[in-house]
Amino acid sequence: MVFSNTYTGLGERFYEKSQPTPVQKPQLFLWDAQLAEQLKIATDLQQDPDALAQIFSGNRILPGSEPIAIAYAGHQFGYFSAQLGDGRAHLLGEVIDRVGKTWDVQLKGTGPTSFSRGGDGRLALGPAVREFIMSEAMHALGVPTTRSLAVVATGEPVYRDRPMAGAVVTRIASSHLRVGTFEFFAARDDRASLKALRDYAIEHHFPDLKEVKENRTVLLLDKVIETQIQLVVQWMRVGFIHGVMNTDNTTISGETIDFGPCAMMGVYDQDTVYSSIDRTGRYAFGNQPQIAHWNMARFAECLLVLVDSEDTQTTEQLTAMVNGCPGRFEREYCKMMGRKFGLLGLREEDDELLNSLLEQFSLQGMDYTITFDLLTKSLNLDSVTSELKTEFGQYFGLWRKRINDQDAPIGEIQKLMRQNNPVVIPRNHHVERVIQECEETGVATAAEKFLQVLNCPYEEIPQTCQYQDKPGDGDQHYQTFCGT
Ligand code: AMP
Ligand code: MG
Repeated sequence: MVFSNTYTGLGERFYEKSQPTPVQKPQLFLWDAQLAEQLKIATDLQQDPDALAQIFSGNRILPGSEPIAIAYAGHQFGYFSAQLGDGRAHLLGEVIDRVGKTWDVQLKGTGPTSFSRGGDGRLALGPAVREFIMSEAMHALGVPTTRSLAVVATGEPVYRDRPMAGAVVTRIASSHLRVGTFEFFAARDDRASLKALRDYAIEHHFPDLKEVKENRTVLLLDKVIETQIQLVVQWMRVGFIHGVMNTDNTTISGETIDFGPCAMMGVYDQDTVYSSIDRTGRYAFGNQPQIAHWNMARFAECLLVLVDSEDTQTTEQLTAMVNGCPGRFEREYCKMMGRKFGLLGLREEDDELLNSLLEQFSLQGMDYTITFDLLTKSLNLDSVTSELKTEFGQYFGLWRKRINDQDAPIGEIQKLMRQNNPVVIPRNHHVERVIQECEETGVATAAEKFLQVLNCPYEEIPQTCQYQDKPGDGDQHYQTFCGT
């Protein structure tokens, strides 16, 4: 692997140099061979699990890599912390993949840094496996996300409410720029750093703005709002609840990051919350668009620091852009929902039909994934229609009429629905069971089997049916925990 380190080029205010703390007995636990191929990791290295374990535990630092912990701040549950930063992660550097795209390679769980604030800098195996499974599942579902290349078991215990097996997860991301990175410098009124950060963000994520000289701040906000809207629309398409949409977990690239308390919605209910610490439902499924808007307002506030106080025009542009978020989101959300229901284009009156259909989901307590799968199948399979007719009542007929009114072959409509409606998602009870099995057995077999199915979520392979069932208790008592 050939590393470059453009982030360190931003200057010392952006990071601390920090070395991973070596671990006793690293063993490769999970490995994404396809991603490794994409990242051009040498074949002989890929076939040497011991060498991989040394490298992806942080024990062996490859030439060219300059490990750092990145500084950032963030609003957590609405409250601002001026100093967070990588308290248990080390950015090894960036690598270029087969198509010339740059990726950050970061190890998480590699020991304390100057940002640890008393934390041990470590990660337990369970959460590492969870990040690997969830990020790989999201990627296969077509949702923008950071990836996981490896999980390495450290052979050392980490102490939580009890001693647990420790692990290091390797995160691959377009970058680790967050809204919280901008907040770090805005809070310090450090305009020079903010400007450098703005230009770095444009350079790395929005190359079509690279040559633009005027209005860069406004244009960046516009792009970041767009990436956030697309991200949350995609989350809502598959029923993903992030669970901790703090500004330090909001990437500028629009990739999903931080899989601590995330979960999947089973029964359709906008108020679904599983995170044990989210007592007010701030990050409930249906609240995610509003929170993304709130986070974009915080981002815009950072950018305002760059605007001359007499430049009312730019200030007004930034404000208008933030205020435009809900409308922009709504348009994209309706398009997505239309596609889930097989509408090739939207008419004005579709709004009412889509709302009525979704209302039936809530009233009848229907499972989001299973029902959309059945609707997709119903286009050429009569045996599922009677169940759907019972659940949707008159709206089933109205929907079918709307489908048939489209000037397109039914096969094409079904294809659109299939592209938008997975046959399988990483259901909470399966994720938990698989993690538990990994912890108890110390081997990754259960996760590997699960991932085989999750890697093709729009296709039924023989094993898919083992993972499609609803949880026995409807996830009524399911809880997720932040971290750790
Ligand atoms: P997270 O909940 O993973 O988003 O982390 C929030 C903040 O707490 C970040 O600054 C993390 O680096 C830090 N943090 C979380 N867990 C630990 C840990 N075990 N040791 C040190 N820092 C941690
Ligand atoms: Mg985080």
